[in-house]
Amino acid sequence: MKNKEKFINLYLTVIVPLGIIALLWAIDYFPLEKVNIELIGLSIITIFFSSYLRIQLPRTKIHLTVSDSLIIISLLLYGGQVAVLLASLESLFTTLNLRRKGIKIKNRTIVLNISVAAFSAFVTAATVNVIFSSPLEAVLSETNSEFIKILLVMAGTQFVVNSVCAAIYIALKSGKSIWQVWNDYCLNALVIYIAGALFAGASVNAFSSINLFMFAAVSGVSALIYITYKRYVDDVKSTAALAGHAERERAEQAERHIAELRHHITEQERISDALRESKDLFRHAAFHDRLTDLPNRNQFMETIKFLLKESRKKPKYKFAVLFLDLDRFKTVNDSLGHSTGDKLIKKVAERLAACVAEGDQVARFSGDEFAVVIKDVNNADDVLNFAELIKHKVAAPFIIEGRKIFTSVSIGIALGGSSYTEVEEILRDADIAMYHAKESGKHYVIFDKTMHTRAVKRMQLETDLRLAIERRELSVYYQPIIDLNTMRLAGFEALMRWKHPQRGFIPPGEFIPVCEDTGLIVPVTLWILREACRQHVRWAKKNPDMPLMISVNLSGKHFIHNDLVAQISDVLAETKINPANLKLELTESAVMENAERVILMLRDLKSLGVQLSIDDFGTGYSSLSYLHRFPIDTLKVDRSFVSEMESGSENGEIVRTIVSLAKTLNMNVVAEGIETIHQLHQLQILDCEYGQGFLFSRPVPLAEAELLFEDKARWQNIIPNQNAGTSTRERELADLSLAN
Ligand code: C2E
Ligand code: MG
Ligand code: MG
Repeated sequence: MKNKEKFINLYLTVIVPLGIIALLWAIDYFPLEKVNIELIGLSIITIFFSSYLRIQLPRTKIHLTVSDSLIIISLLLYGGQVAVLLASLESLFTTLNLRRKGIKIKNRTIVLNISVAAFSAFVTAATVNVIFSSPLEAVLSETNSEFIKILLVMAGTQFVVNSVCAAIYIALKSGKSIWQVWNDYCLNALVIYIAGALFAGASVNAFSSINLFMFAAVSGVSALIYITYKRYVDDVKSTAALAGHAERERAEQAERHIAELRHHITEQERISDALRESKDLFRHAAFHDRLTDLPNRNQFMETIKFLLKESRKKPKYKFAVLFLDLDRFKTVNDSLGHSTGDKLIKKVAERLAACVAEGDQVARFSGDEFAVVIKDVNNADDVLNFAELIKHKVAAPFIIEGRKIFTSVSIGIALGGSSYTEVEEILRDADIAMYHAKESGKHYVIFDKTMHTRAVKRMQLETDLRLAIERRELSVYYQPIIDLNTMRLAGFEALMRWKHPQRGFIPPGEFIPVCEDTGLIVPVTLWILREACRQHVRWAKKNPDMPLMISVNLSGKHFIHNDLVAQISDVLAETKINPANLKLELTESAVMENAERVILMLRDLKSLGVQLSIDDFGTGYSSLSYLHRFPIDTLKVDRSFVSEMESGSENGEIVRTIVSLAKTLNMNVVAEGIETIHQLHQLQILDCEYGQGFLFSRPVPLAEAELLFEDKARWQNIIPNQNAGTSTRERELADLSLAN
């Protein structure tokens, strides 16, 4: 860049002085004597108008004007000084004119143009002078061929000087070689110089011989040449413009194409970003729980799989899997609604997540089931401490929608290590341990192998029980309830029996909990209720004057179902039993678990006209403050109090309290589990109204119950001399005589 400027400046320092010398020479030797009207006219035309008749050399900024011809004319007619001055002035005027039109031309370029013009005219004049004699004289004296030679020398000289100077300047500016520039841009102009010179010669000739015809012909030919060349140049220009346009079009098209490609690429990138994002989302969804955003079962299983691999590599490596289940979560869901249930789950999830150490994992399996894995376990105590911590955290109240909610958790623990090979095995064992925790009421239990055996047995029982219903292996047994005052049959309690094809009778205490856990309790209860009601209706028909009571047990689990009342109402309608003769027995725990809700349901049941009884009273945690709010008709004293009832014993006191409580609350009392005359006697002394027990009869199948029904007074002979309406004193004596 610096070099380029340096060369341009060098070039200027050569050309400009040469131009100045030429100008000084022209001014100094100016032939004042030749100044006339023609010279003034020629000067005006040359300086002010010749530049308008100009042609731009194709692909250059070089303009050739008719001024070159006029300068040759001035040279021929008035000599070199005039030609140099005219050439300089014309150049000055033309460049100033262009600048006035807004074309940027540096002062340095103006000086250079003037210098080149002056120098070129000077060199032309000098060359002609050196080769020939005075031009004017030559014009007049020389032969035509000599004259043409002069013109050609003039044209050649002017062309060489002008084109070489221009080529050097352009080459310096553009960085191309002088030859290339000259060849590309200047060579074409030779023809116009020759034509211009010939036109000038012809004009001078015609002018000087005052041959107007010749002058017109020369002017015509010259005009023709000018027009033809102009057209050629215009053609070249328009072709170049077209080519340029086409090239621009192509370039624009290419640019458009590139832009489209770029857009396409951006679009592709956007799509692949979106795909990646949705893939991440899907992956997240596949391995996380939607409600709590905790890892889900799949993710948890992956973790365990990894840990099992680790323990295979390092046999001493131990980890622990804890299986957690919230207690009575279904009650929360059913009573407070699923949205509260969801909120509770979320809060529990937060507490659990806050308990685990970094690297350990909490997952939500489903509903109210969670799992935790503790990596790197040193001993079982660490895990038990952790379970204790969870127990405490979950036991603290949760505030949801301004309401305090309490829950608790049962935790089954399986210690993982090289003894396991499959993920499912360790999860199964943690699950089994969790059931044990729930059943036993302990909050956490570590799995041992005996639990597995029991779990398998229980599962078998579950399967068999489902089949039992289909195979009609269930039946109803009836246990009589005796009026202890009259010692006559007062009613029956309907009790379920299951005769297993291999195992024989299975105690209800074993299979009823399975029914409750599997949900089978609902259809089974409705079945026994229907059977018992039908049977009662048959008995009532036989003995309309002395109606019996029929008692049916309701499971606490049944109260979770909102349609319990409607179902019972349907059975009443279907069997047409007098509702006043039906007594529904419910356990204390069933009533107390969700007291407010159950009170409402019991009132609905009561409005059906049935009687309600609290079974196994005294074993649960009845709150006495609640008891009077329950629409209960009967309290059934639990067998455990009756069986160990001695006069003056603690149990005897309890029974006495229950009886008097019942009387205060206007309820009647049934004592269950009466096995001895002594117990019976005690109860009679306490004025207990009804009794049930093996002393009277075990629960019996229908056929035997029918016999009992036929002989309602058979128990009056249990105690000798026992009669309806006997006084307490008499009964005491009878008891004594029996004892003897
Ligand atoms: P529960 O309702 O308290 O029934 C009384 C239980 O005490 C019966 O046991 C009965 O055989 C037993 N029992 C009666 N008198 C005596 C006696 O003098 N000595 C002894 N040792 N036992 C006596 P079972 O039939 O084995 O029923 C046990 C429990 O199973 C019932 O206690 C009840 O809670 C439940 N259960 C039985 N059948 C049904 C049913 O259909 N539905 C529901 N939900 N539970 C039932
Ligand atoms: Mg009962
Ligand atoms: Mg009972």
